[in-house]
Amino acid sequence: MDYATIADAYEKIEATTKRLEMTDLLVALLKETPKPVLDKVVYLTQGKLYPDFEGIEIGVAERLALKALARAAGRKESEIETDLQRSGDIGETAQSLLSKKKQATFGVQKTLTAQRVYEVLDKMAKTSGSGAVDTKMNLLVGLLADASPKEAKYIMRTVTGNLRLGIADMTVLDALAIAYGGGKENRDLIERAYNISSDLGRVAHVVAENGIEGMKQYQVTVFEPVRPMLAERLASPEEIFEKLGSKCVVEYKYDGERIQLHKKGDEVVLFSRRLEKISDQYPDAVELVRQKVTAQEAILEGECVAMDLETGEMRPFQELMHRRRKYGVKEAISEYPVSLFMFDALYVDGKDYTQEPFQTRRKALEAATAKSDRLTLAQQKLVRSAKELEAFFEEAIEDGCEGVMCKAVGTGSVYQAGARGWLWIKYKRDYKSEMSDTVDLVVVGAFHGRGKRAGAYGALLLATYNKEADTFETVTKCGTGFTDKDLAQLPEMLRKHEVPRKHSRVTSTLEADVWFEPALVLEILGAEITLSPIHMCAMNSIRKGSGLAIRFPRFTGKYRTDKAPEDATTSLEAAEMYRNQLKTISEA
Ligand code: ATP
Repeated sequence: MDYATIADAYEKIEATTKRLEMTDLLVALLKETPKPVLDKVVYLTQGKLYPDFEGIEIGVAERLALKALARAAGRKESEIETDLQRSGDIGETAQSLLSKKKQATFGVQKTLTAQRVYEVLDKMAKTSGSGAVDTKMNLLVGLLADASPKEAKYIMRTVTGNLRLGIADMTVLDALAIAYGGGKENRDLIERAYNISSDLGRVAHVVAENGIEGMKQYQVTVFEPVRPMLAERLASPEEIFEKLGSKCVVEYKYDGERIQLHKKGDEVVLFSRRLEKISDQYPDAVELVRQKVTAQEAILEGECVAMDLETGEMRPFQELMHRRRKYGVKEAISEYPVSLFMFDALYVDGKDYTQEPFQTRRKALEAATAKSDRLTLAQQKLVRSAKELEAFFEEAIEDGCEGVMCKAVGTGSVYQAGARGWLWIKYKRDYKSEMSDTVDLVVVGAFHGRGKRAGAYGALLLATYNKEADTFETVTKCGTGFTDKDLAQLPEMLRKHEVPRKHSRVTSTLEADVWFEPALVLEILGAEITLSPIHMCAMNSIRKGSGLAIRFPRFTGKYRTDKAPEDATTSLEAAEMYRNQLKTISEA
């Protein structure tokens, strides 16, 4: 196929702003394209060489392109720059300068084929290291030497990332349906193929070769990311039940980064929500998948969450953001370790599960993984009432989640790749408030440490003081902010206050490993105060059945030995803080 055919089509497409006309022009181009190069032509029309998830860009800097053009056109760079200032478009400058040159030269030009253009651009994209600039330049000069002015215009725009014909994925899908899929009525099948492979080139190739039958049999493939299923949002359990029927599965909504993992034997690739390859950022997660995903081949989804490995607590999303880096990955791994909470299975050992109901997929997920501390399945529960849903939601908040995902069950509950629909509904905490002030809390219990903290306390159970009842009400579990010295001296400091069971002045629904009489006061900074069904602080004072909890607490390093336990922050003050902070949020 001649590249001139493509350039002609681009010129016409560029001249229209109407989507229907654009589709017709694209249909004509796709029909004219020989099947073996159809995929390449599809990528090229979107200014690409590969599907986005491959992360391969042509990547020619404008400076280099200008230099190549100067050489091909036999002009000085300064002349090119002047013309570029006039036109504002590197493609037009190439076209006008080369057309002037063409009148003055005669020499044998080879006809440019689409294959050759693609191959040369591909070489340019893959050239790196020393001498890459020269190599790229020579390759581009070679192409321009054989290009007509019109071809040069589109080549220059393509290499500099300025093609912008405005052909969206959806337009390509429409055109493919008309050109090869038996008409627009079959578009959904073609779109599904795209949604489960994210590769328009491959879809084009298959539909051209095998027609709509090929689309019906199209399956997910390991290492081709599936476009993620997304959730709608509702504000109350009652509304959620109206949508989902008499029952649904509620799952913890973990606050991390969505990961779609692809595994074949020992080879593992992690994709982000935007379907970028992020394996390099998470070598620890890759290793976890190698060890704990027992299926030979799998495509699974889960949330990657920053963890405090000593206390087993989830860390805020902000901490995970430290893992978004190219350098210093090793240090970041030990400073911000992660765990995976798996929530879906799309493909396992030869079976495509995307058309299977949710609970079947969950079973496949269970079978495909070996549970461990660091790779677990999302906590879930089948619920039949708004009340049950609300209770589970509060547990999720208590455990450090940002809410729940409510998922439809039953035959229709397929994995809707690339779609936001009502099969998944998110229900988030909307009554959180930010804490700006520290609080002074009383140590009433402790939990044994694990791992590096074996022998020391992993976390302390802390309480506010209820003046009216003269009791101490638990408000948080804190394992962060303690230095090695703190960890060593805390058991000593607390030993004299140890009691065999929960102290009579302490109200707690949690079972600590060790109990203390209220004595030691610590200064704590939390991120926010939330409603909690588990902690007893200010129970029922804001909402029936709820107490208050301090989330993401951190010991500031201050032992308030100058304070008696009765001088600690009171439950009333905590409730006041909660209300005030809510006010600040609504005013903001
Ligand atoms: P969206 O992804 O819906 O556009 P968003 O990126 O703002 O919105 P959220 O509104 O927080 O994300 O909700 C969806 C995200 O929640 C998912 O993309 C996923 O990363 C995360 N998530 C956490 N736990 C689960 C779970 N159990 N099931 C599905 N998704 C979950």
